[in-house]
Amino acid sequence: MRAVVVTIFPGLVRGFLEYGLIKRAREAGKLEVSVVDLRDHAHDRHRSVDDAPFGGGGGMVMRPDPLFEAVETHKREGDRVLLLSPQGTPFGHETAKRLANLPGLVMLCGRYEGVDERVRMAVVDEEISIGDYVLMGGELPALVVLEAVMRFVPGVLGNEESSGQDSFARGLLDFPHFTRPQVFRGMRAPEILVSGDHAAVEKWRRREALRQTLLKRPEILATAELDREDAGILDELRKEKSSPVRADQGGLT
Ligand code: SAH
Repeated sequence: MRAVVVTIFPGLVRGFLEYGLIKRAREAGKLEVSVVDLRDHAHDRHRSVDDAPFGGGGGMVMRPDPLFEAVETHKREGDRVLLLSPQGTPFGHETAKRLANLPGLVMLCGRYEGVDERVRMAVVDEEISIGDYVLMGGELPALVVLEAVMRFVPGVLGNEESSGQDSFARGLLDFPHFTRPQVFRGMRAPEILVSGDHAAVEKWRRREALRQTLLKRPEILATAELDREDAGILDELRKEKSSPVRADQGGLT
C-alpha cells in the first residue's frame, strides 16, 4: 500500500507515522507514505495556500491551485484521491476493507473553512467523513483512515488471527479480554478462560461477543453472519436482559 498525505502540517502527520505497527509496516515495506507539504506547491511570494472566500464572511478557504498541483505531481496510476471532509460518506469497517485493496491513496487534508469546491469537483474520487462533528483539519481524519485501512493489509498486524475476531470483522463486536492477574481488586477473570479447554473457550467467546453486540450495538446484529446456534444463544441472552456487566454486579462467570 502506498499513501500520499497532502497537508499544511507535515510534521504532525510524520510524527504519527513514527510509532507502533504503522512504523513497523513502513520498515517492512508494507506501507510507503509520502507526506507532502502543500506549501511546496504554492508559488506566489508568500507561498500562500489559502485566501478569503468569494462572497465574504469569515475564515479562509484553501486555494485550488496548490492542491491541484500536489495531486498532479504525486498521484500515481491506480491511486484513489480522498478528500477528508465532514460532508463525506461516513467512514467504517467496510470502506477500510475496500480501500485496503487499492494500490494507493492520495489523502487531501483541509484546514480553515475547507477546500475550494473545484478540488472536489475535478480531482477528488471520494469524499470521506470520520463522523458527524467538525474538526479543525483533515490530518487526524487522514490518519484514522490510514490506520484502519492498514489493519487490512496482509502482514501488517503481528497476529493475523486478531483482525478476524476484532469488532465488526464478523458483524459482531469483539468478546471481552482478560489477562493476569486472574483476580484483580476482587474481580475474577472467568474461570473457563484459564481451564485450558479450547472448545469451551471458543464457545464462551462466541457467546460473549454476541452478548456485547446485543447490549452495546443491537442494530448491527441485523447484518451479522449468524448460524442457528447463535440465534438460540441470542434468544437466551435477550431473556437475561442485562446491561454491560459492572464489577459491583458480580462480574462475568
Ligand atoms: N466548513 C467545513 C468544515 C471545515 S473543517 C464544513 O462545515 O463542511 C476543516 C477541515 O477539517 C476540512 O476541510 C476537513 O478536511 C477536516 N475535517 C473536519 N471535520 C472532519 C470530519 N468529520 N471528517 C473528515 N474531515 C474533517
